[in-house]
Amino acid sequence: MPAERASELAARRQPLEAASAVEAEPRLQPRYAEVVLPIPVPRTYTYQIPAELTGRVVPGARVVVPLQRRRVVGLVVGVDAPPPGPAVAAKAIVAAPDAAPALGPALLELGLWISRYYGTPVGLALRALLPGALWSVERPAGPAERAERVLVLATALPSLLERERAFRRAPKRRVAYEALEALGGSAPLRHLVTQLKLSPATLDGLVRQGLARYTDVPRARDPFTGLSSPPPPELTADQRRVVEGILGTPVETPILLQGVTGSGKTLVYLDVLRSVVASGHGAILLVPEIALTPQTVARVRGVFGDQVAVLHSGLSDGERADAWRALHRGERRVAVGPRSAVFAPVQRLAAIVVDEEHETSYKQGTAPRYHARDVALVRAKLEGGGGGGARVILGSATPSLETLHLAATGKIARFELPVRVGAWPLPPVEVIDLRTAPRVADARGVPWTESLDDAVRGALGRGEQVILLLNRRGFATYLQCPSCGDVRDCPQCAIALTVHQTPPALRCHYCGHEEPIPTTCRVCGKATQRMRGLGTQQLEHFTALRFPEARIARMDLDTTSTKWAHHRILERVAQGKVDILLGTQMIAKGLDFPNVTVVGVVDADTGLNLPDFRAAERTFQLVAQVAGRAGRGPKGGRVYVQTRAPEHHAIRAAAAHSVAEFAARELPLRAPPNPSYPPWVGLVRFVAAHEDAIAAQEAAERVAAWLARANAERLGGALTVLGPAPCPIERLKGRWRWHVLVKASEPRALGRVVRAWGARARAVVVVDRDPVSLL
Ligand code: ADP
Ligand code: ZN
Repeated sequence: MPAERASELAARRQPLEAASAVEAEPRLQPRYAEVVLPIPVPRTYTYQIPAELTGRVVPGARVVVPLQRRRVVGLVVGVDAPPPGPAVAAKAIVAAPDAAPALGPALLELGLWISRYYGTPVGLALRALLPGALWSVERPAGPAERAERVLVLATALPSLLERERAFRRAPKRRVAYEALEALGGSAPLRHLVTQLKLSPATLDGLVRQGLARYTDVPRARDPFTGLSSPPPPELTADQRRVVEGILGTPVETPILLQGVTGSGKTLVYLDVLRSVVASGHGAILLVPEIALTPQTVARVRGVFGDQVAVLHSGLSDGERADAWRALHRGERRVAVGPRSAVFAPVQRLAAIVVDEEHETSYKQGTAPRYHARDVALVRAKLEGGGGGGARVILGSATPSLETLHLAATGKIARFELPVRVGAWPLPPVEVIDLRTAPRVADARGVPWTESLDDAVRGALGRGEQVILLLNRRGFATYLQCPSCGDVRDCPQCAIALTVHQTPPALRCHYCGHEEPIPTTCRVCGKATQRMRGLGTQQLEHFTALRFPEARIARMDLDTTSTKWAHHRILERVAQGKVDILLGTQMIAKGLDFPNVTVVGVVDADTGLNLPDFRAAERTFQLVAQVAGRAGRGPKGGRVYVQTRAPEHHAIRAAAAHSVAEFAARELPLRAPPNPSYPPWVGLVRFVAAHEDAIAAQEAAERVAAWLARANAERLGGALTVLGPAPCPIERLKGRWRWHVLVKASEPRALGRVVRAWGARARAVVVVDRDPVSLL
C-alpha cells in the first residue's frame, strides 16, 4: 500500500457509519480490513477478515495479526478496504480478543485527528489511546483481572431438622454455613479463611455438598481506594451563580472558569459533574499531576466514591488495564488523571474538566506530542454519546494567553470567581528589589534579604508555616547587569541572549543572531558579569543553618523520585510536621494549607530571562500561583517576592494578583511591530537531534530549505521560518540539537507542512506543533 494511504485515510470524513452499514450483508467475496499497527509507519495494513470473525472485526476493534514472522496487536480502522494488489496475498486476521470494540467511534476519530494535526504516524497516535497492556500480543486479552473469590450460599436450610440432617457428620461445615448466613449469605473467601479461621477444606465441603458455590467478582486494584474526604460543603452564592451559568451555557460552548486562588473552583467542577453523573452520563477530570493533587483526588472521591477511576502514574500495567476496563464497561463513570486520562473510555461522556489548564504538563513530550487541553476540546465535539457532544470546562487562576484569547474573541464563555471562599483576602505581596534591599550579614551568595528573613522568623515564632519557592533550572545562564538589571536580548526576536563560552559569544536561540560578550552594560555603562544561580539544595542548607529549630522539607525532582514521595511530604506538611516547605514549581500548585502564612519567592527571575517567548507568562503564573498558597485561613498571610526586575510586568501583575493586567501588557509584546508569537499566530517547531553535531545541523538546514521551498511554491508565503539555530539546550542525552521554528496566522498552512513532514517520518527530525517549550 502506498504511503499516501495514511493521509487518504485521514482525509476520509465518515469512515465509521459507512463501514457499519454494509456489515450485515452476507458476502461471497473475501472482505478486507484496514488495520493500524502501533509502529512509526505512516500507513495502514490490509488483512483478510476470516468469516468467523466478521462480527468482531469492526472499526475500533483490537485484532491480532501476523507481521513478517511475528504477531502484533493492531486496531481496525475500516472494514471496507479494497483487496491488496494482485501481486500480494493479504494475510488473515488471527484473532479479535474483545467482545466490544476497544475504541468507540469518537475515540477512533480522535486518534485520527491527532495523527493529522500533530503529524504523527497513525499507529503512534492510536497507540496512545489504549493502555500499554492492551498492545501486548503475549496476552491479547490483556492482563488477567484481579478477581476476588466469594463464597455464596446456594441452598437455604430453614428448618432445624434439615440442618441437623445436613450436618450430622460435619459439625465444622455447620459452623461455616452459619457464619456465612450471619454475613448475609456471601463473603470473600479471604475473609472467611484469614479472619474467621475457617479451613478451606471445610468450605470446599460445603460446595461439594451443593450448599454453597464460589464466584469470582472482579476487583479493581486501586491504591487510592482509601483516600476520602468529608462531604463537600454547601456552595457559596458565588459558586452557585457560576454553576448555574455553566449549566445554562450550550454544551458546545467551552467554558473558562477563571477563579482566583482559593476561590473554590474544585467545588464548582464537582457540582457540575454531579449533575452530569446524575443524568446517567460520565465525565473526565484532568489534573496536571496526580501526585501533586491528592487533595483534589480526595474531594472527587468524597463525592463520587466508587464511581471514580483514578488513573495515576503509580499504577501497574494490570491496574491501569483494570481501570480502563471498568470505565469501558461503564462500571465507573468518572475518570480522574493526568493528560492521558483525556483518552479514558468513559461511556456516555458528557463533560471534561481541565484543572489548571495553563500547566505545561498537559503537553506530551514524545510522539504523539499532543496537548491534552486541545485534545479535550476536540474530543468533546466528537462525542455523540448522550446527544450533542460533551461540555469542556477549563479552570485556572492564571489561564494561558491562548485560552484568554479564545475567551476574548468569544469562542469560549468565561465565568469568574473573583473572591476567595470565606472572603479571605488575597494576600498582600511585597516586592523586594534584590539590587538594593539590605541582605542579612552572613548570606554570602544567597539572595536573602532582611525583609524575608524577618517574615520567616516571625511566622516560625508564631507556629505558622512557610513556603519558599526557588525554581532554579541549572542550564539557564544569561547576562544581566547586577547594577541596573538590564538583560541583553536579541534585536530580532525579543528573547534573552544566552551566554556561550566555546566560543565566547551571546547568541539568540531562536534565529541564530550572535554578538560578542560585552564588557560593560549597554544601559548604565557598569562592568557586567555572568549570573549563576542558587539551587534548592543550597537554599535548604542555608535555611537549616539560619533557622536551626525549624523542620524543613525540600520538594523538587531529586526528593520526589520515588513512588508516593510527594504524597508523604505533603502529608507531613498537612499534619503540621513541617515548618518550612521549600522547593521548585512543584510547591506552587494547588496546595491548600490554612496554616501557611508566609510565602517567599527567593528569586523570581530564574525563569524570566529564559530564551523562550513564554518566559514572562511562566513567571507570572508561577509567582501568582505560589502567592495564592498564602493566607488561606483566618491567620491571613503575606507574600515576599525577591527580584532584580521589580518593574517587570510579570512581577507587577503577579503582585497585584491580576491576570487582566498581565494579559494587557503581554499580548501586545507578541504582536507586530514586535515579532509575532502565539496566541496571535500558530507555532510549529522542528527539532533535529543527532550524535554528530554536523549531522544535526545539516538535518535542520534541510528542513529549513524544504520549508522555504514549500512556502514559496505551494503556500503563498504564509509561513515565517526562523532558523535553523542551535536549541538553547544544545546537547541532550548525548545528541546535538538544532531547531527550526515556523509561524503562521493560517493554521491550514501549518497543518500542511506538519502532515507532509509527518508522512516522511524521519527519525532525526521531530515535529512539535504548538510546542510549550522552545528549549
Ligand atoms: P482553588 O482551586 O480555586 O484554589 P479550592 O477548590 O482548593 O480553591 O478551595 C479552597 C478552599 O476552600 C478549600 O479548602 C475548600 O475546601 C474550601 N471551600 C471551597 N468551597 C467552599 C464552600 N462553599 N464552603 C466552604 N469551604 C469551601
Ligand atoms: Zn533572534
